[in-house]
Amino acid sequence: MSANHYDTIIIGSGPAGYTAAIYAGRANLKTLVLEGIERGGQLMITSEVENYPGFPHGIQGPELMEHFRNQAARFGAELKTVMADKAELSQGAPFRIHAEGQVYTSDTVIVATGASARFLGIPSEQAFKGRGVSACATCDGFFFRGKEVAVVGGGDSAFEEANFLTKFASKVTILHRRDTYRASKIMVERARKNPKIQFKTFVEVAEIYGDEKTGTVAGLKLRNNQTGSIEDFPVQGLFIAIGHVPNTGLFKGQLEMDEAGYLITQPDRTATNIPGVFAAGDVKDHYYRQAVTAAGSGCQAAIEAERYLESKRH
Ligand code: NAP
Repeated sequence: MSANHYDTIIIGSGPAGYTAAIYAGRANLKTLVLEGIERGGQLMITSEVENYPGFPHGIQGPELMEHFRNQAARFGAELKTVMADKAELSQGAPFRIHAEGQVYTSDTVIVATGASARFLGIPSEQAFKGRGVSACATCDGFFFRGKEVAVVGGGDSAFEEANFLTKFASKVTILHRRDTYRASKIMVERARKNPKIQFKTFVEVAEIYGDEKTGTVAGLKLRNNQTGSIEDFPVQGLFIAIGHVPNTGLFKGQLEMDEAGYLITQPDRTATNIPGVFAAGDVKDHYYRQAVTAAGSGCQAAIEAERYLESKRH
């Protein structure tokens, strides 16, 4: 086989991808990780990670991902900071993965391309990311102790985030563009009973502005989408909870996905509909979405890939 042929190719470099690489490398599989251009996944945009086990004093997201990466390299995984741009999976092994003009082939593939938080798309949102704007209450809620924050969205995520944030914030306002919610009734009822949660309907975030001294969020300009009027709304944090988008565009028409685009695997397994192709982490999980669960699923995928290869070779 050519130098570009691997036992397994892992696409993605978040906790799932690197954990799969650690396990595959330790199992002596010839392993390639196509990390993407912005390697490290969603933790690269998180500040302090306080709930990853093993770091009792917390660790910065990018530093944690550097540890993951170094550990994968230590066990021999080849790491390439390139973007996979085409995946030929349907014909079975050898699978062909294209990345920036090169073609890599493999006997197994582990898809760990993750999901990206959907953002509003307004310019000020980018400017304040990590400085008051967040898409993860579990990651960043702690930093808003005693502060007033807003959550934008009307689905289960928005209500779950709002409820979680009341542990820290003095007041949480759910901002929604309609007056009916997609979120389940029970979540809405719970929020209505929570004295710290307030609601604003028919509003859209037109702009986020900052405090000149601290450079962090100081408030929002809210547009009423019924009247067009603009209202000033002072808050120190804005949590965006308008859904996630799984990064599965490369696999459309090949791997089974649900209506939201998340990959479907066998129950309690990482095996997809194509033998030899496994999926791990947020690309197949819209429920937990935690670094530790993604890492666990990367471990499972590597073990399944190894056993699959073993069964094929005997
Ligand atoms: P979702 O159900 O798709 O809801 C997204 C919300 O964001 C909707 O209310 C939508 O408004 C709003 N939205 C979308 N784009 C927007 C924009 N550009 N500006 C303003 N608002 C925007 O997403 P989700 O809440 O992340 O939930 C995803 C899935 O995970 C769901 O199936 C959910 O049930 C599940 N989930 C379950 C739990 C749980 O059971 N504990 C927790 C979290 C998530 P419109 O309603 O007007 O479209």
